[in-house]
Amino acid sequence: MFGHTDIEKIFEAIRKKQKFAVMTGIKPTGQYHIGSLITCNEVLYFQNLGGKVYFCIADMEAYLHSSVPLKEGHETAIDNIADILALGLDLEDSYIYKQSEEKEVLRLAAIFSKNVTYNMLKGIYGEQAFGAYQSALIQVGDILLPQLGDYEGPLLTVTPVGLEQAPHARLTRDLARKQYFRDLYGFKMPSFTFHQILGSLDGGDKMSKSAGSTFLITLSETEKTLKKKIPAIITGGRDTKQEQIKLGGQPEICRVFDLYRFFFMEDDKVLETRLQDCKSGKILCGECKQDLFSRVNTFIEKHQEKKESKIDLAKQILEL
Ligand code: SF4
Repeated sequence: MFGHTDIEKIFEAIRKKQKFAVMTGIKPTGQYHIGSLITCNEVLYFQNLGGKVYFCIADMEAYLHSSVPLKEGHETAIDNIADILALGLDLEDSYIYKQSEEKEVLRLAAIFSKNVTYNMLKGIYGEQAFGAYQSALIQVGDILLPQLGDYEGPLLTVTPVGLEQAPHARLTRDLARKQYFRDLYGFKMPSFTFHQILGSLDGGDKMSKSAGSTFLITLSETEKTLKKKIPAIITGGRDTKQEQIKLGGQPEICRVFDLYRFFFMEDDKVLETRLQDCKSGKILCGECKQDLFSRVNTFIEKHQEKKESKIDLAKQILEL
C-alpha cells in the first residue's frame, strides 16, 4: 500500500474494536490470477483485524465493460468464489452478492445518477461510453451498500484498490459527502487504500485478464503451463551471460523480481539477498526463474487442492 484516504479512521476503529466493513469485488471475466492476489491479501488482512467483508461479483460491470453475458459470468463467478474461499475468506464474517441481483446497489446507482452531471463524470473519467459511467455509479452503490440500514447501517468502510481505481474513490467520496445523501442515509466517509499494480509477464503495465492469458499467471495453471510461462517472463537480465556476471542484472525492471517482491519471498532478508545477488551478477536469470517456478508451482498446487473442496460451497452461495 502506498496511499490512502482516511485509513487512520479504520485503524482507530480496529484499536477500539469497533465494527467496520471491507469492500471488494471481482469482475467475472476469467480465472482468478496472481495480480488479483494483491487486493485479496489486503482484504484478508483487514478481515483478520475484525472487518466484515462485502464481496461483490461485478457481473453488471463485466457486461457493461466487457460484454460478458450475465449467464456466462455466473459460471466464472463460481470459480472465482471458490478461489477466494480457498485463499482464506471467512464466510462467517462476509457478505457475497451479485451486482445484477442486489437491488439496493442498482437502486443506489439510479438515485446517485440524479446527482451527477455529464461534466462531473467527464471530469473524473474522461469521455466514455454511457455504459462506463453507469458502471461507475453501480460501483459507488457497491461501496456504500454496507452503510444502508438493512445491512450494517452507517459505519466506517475501507476499499482496497489499485491506483487505476482512484477515480471511483473520488466519485464515491464526492457523492457520499453530499448533504442530501448524508441526511438520507447518514453515510460515513468511505476510506480507500491504494496499492501498487503488478505488471504483466511481458512487461506491460498491468497483469489483467483483458491483456490475454499468455501474459498472466492464473491460479489454475498446471505444472505444464507454468513451464512455458515462467521461462518467457521478461527479466532485467543482460544480453549475454558474461555481461550479466560483469554488470549484474536489473531487478528494478524485472517481472520475476516483482513476483518475488509481491508474493513469493515473504522474508525481507531473503528478498534483499536475492536483490544483491542479482545486482552483483552472482545469480543468473535461468537459476532465478527455476527458483520462481518451484515456488509458484508449489503455491498453486496447494491452492488447487484447497479450492477443489470449495466448489460446491461456492455454487451454494451463488445459487441461494
Ligand atoms: S537474476 Fe532474477 S531478479 Fe535478476 S534480472 Fe534475472 S530474473 Fe530478474
